[in-house]
Amino acid sequence: MCEVKSGFKYSFDPKKCEICKGKCCIGESGYIWINDDEIYRLSKHLNLEVEDFKKRYLIKIGSRYSIREKPYNFGFACKFFDEKTLNCSIYEFRPNQCRTFPFWDYFKKNFKELELECIGVKLLSN
Ligand code: SF4
Ligand code: SF4
Repeated sequence: MCEVKSGFKYSFDPKKCEICKGKCCIGESGYIWINDDEIYRLSKHLNLEVEDFKKRYLIKIGSRYSIREKPYNFGFACKFFDEKTLNCSIYEFRPNQCRTFPFWDYFKKNFKELELECIGVKLLSN
């Protein structure tokens, strides 16, 4: 079923993720922000000490952390992108930034850009 969110002019069909091959997890380099609670939960899930988890999977940008990327095709992929299943390998523990995609304030004014990336979005008819 399509999702809608107040303040957004488009809907999102999560079923499209099954055929999309993870386009929002690959491509150009970018930040995948992760907060302290998310870091704690994910490191527990991976059976790692928080500090080990940070060294292995995160980069520090100012006072914040972002998930590392790896080279993929002609660009990059999130380190947690599973290249075999073409999906997120930590789906239940993915950070809020990933959970809230594609309903980001930025896309309210940049729908064309979103449309090129995400096959699941559709402008709502009035
Ligand atoms: S780009 Fe859109 S359709 Fe593709 S995986 Fe991401 S949210 Fe799903
Ligand atoms: S954490 Fe998962 S959903 Fe988020 S960018 Fe990485 S692979 Fe994609």
